Amino acid sequence: MRYLHNNAQSADYLRQAIKRMTQQETALHPLSYAIWYEYVARLNPDLQTAIDARLKECGKLNEEATCALYHQHVAELDAKTALRIGNSVSDLVDQVSASATDASDQASRFGNSLESWSGALGQSAGDLAAGVEDILRGTRAMQKAIGTLQDRLEESSREAQQLKEEVARARQEALIDALTGLVNRKGFDLAMSACLQQPATAHGPCLLMIDLDAFKRINDAHGHVFGDTVLAAVGEILKANVKGKDTAARYGGEEFAVILPQTPRGGALGLAEALRALVAASRIRSSARNGSMIGNISVSIGVADHVASESAADFISRADRALYAAKAQGRNRVVLAARPAAEAFST
Ligand code: GH3
Ligand code: MG
Ligand code: MG
Repeated sequence: MRYLHNNAQSADYLRQAIKRMTQQETALHPLSYAIWYEYVARLNPDLQTAIDARLKECGKLNEEATCALYHQHVAELDAKTALRIGNSVSDLVDQVSASATDASDQASRFGNSLESWSGALGQSAGDLAAGVEDILRGTRAMQKAIGTLQDRLEESSREAQQLKEEVARARQEALIDALTGLVNRKGFDLAMSACLQQPATAHGPCLLMIDLDAFKRINDAHGHVFGDTVLAAVGEILKANVKGKDTAARYGGEEFAVILPQTPRGGALGLAEALRALVAASRIRSSARNGSMIGNISVSIGVADHVASESAADFISRADRALYAAKAQGRNRVVLAARPAAEAFST
């Protein structure tokens, strides 16, 4: 804030300013007070020089000169401050809100000092006291206007914040698969591209492509609703066993994928085998009226460990080829992807 003087100091400046103000042609209004306050408090050297030059030239300040000095040397400082306000709308709102609070404090101090001085002056200088009363009324009106502005800015700031949160929530929801609660294909693509920004090491990344076996037959035998329950149950198994930096996704239909950014091949094979066994051991209650437990659900899994500079598409295709090899070998099993020929002998 520009005016940091305590009550006693500001009262002294008020007395000096009033003395100067009454020597001019200008009426006793807040603009006049502002320039003379800054003058006597020596807050604004450029203003001081301009006032001295004007007095030397004309003897007194008239309305026009007072307004010009105020706009050029007092208001312009605030305009310069405003120019420094940051780029984003919410920054703008926050900062303007803060300046309104400052202005409100400032007006309130101004009002308080005038109030106390108007009492003191009332005895000895009736005219002056009436002038100060006028200033006081003007100040109160200004305070009220600033208060309203501040309320509106706070409201806008709250709305901007709410909008930001809603957009973030909608963005997040757009990446989640409704049936399983896992990230969807879009979420998988984002996680994969973030994962491949990091250099590949002997500790990852690895990728699991997982496909439900004979799922068409399960749908045909027990109905599509039961099929959905199976997909949700597999989703739960993945959620319970894939944590931290790892991402489990519903890749599409009855196919899932797991990205393991910092897991070596052996760890990835171990996790794939654990997931396969958990699904094979699961029993899911049928949605049919008798509600019997259905077993014989299984997945096949292809595992690939990333090789340096391999694209996401090539990485996924290698894991997919391993998955289809697992299907071809009889399903309900895990197969490790072959590494590209040039890499095959290097590790
Ligand atoms: P494979 O072991 O070779 O993978 O055989 P499969 O029957 O699982 O494979 P196929 O591609 O022939 O059939 C996949 C089935 O998955 C067909 C499709 O109706 C079903 N499916 C895909 N998405 C959903 C879903 O959201 N809900 C249900 N209930 N079924 C789905
Ligand atoms: Mg399948
Ligand atoms: Mg499939």
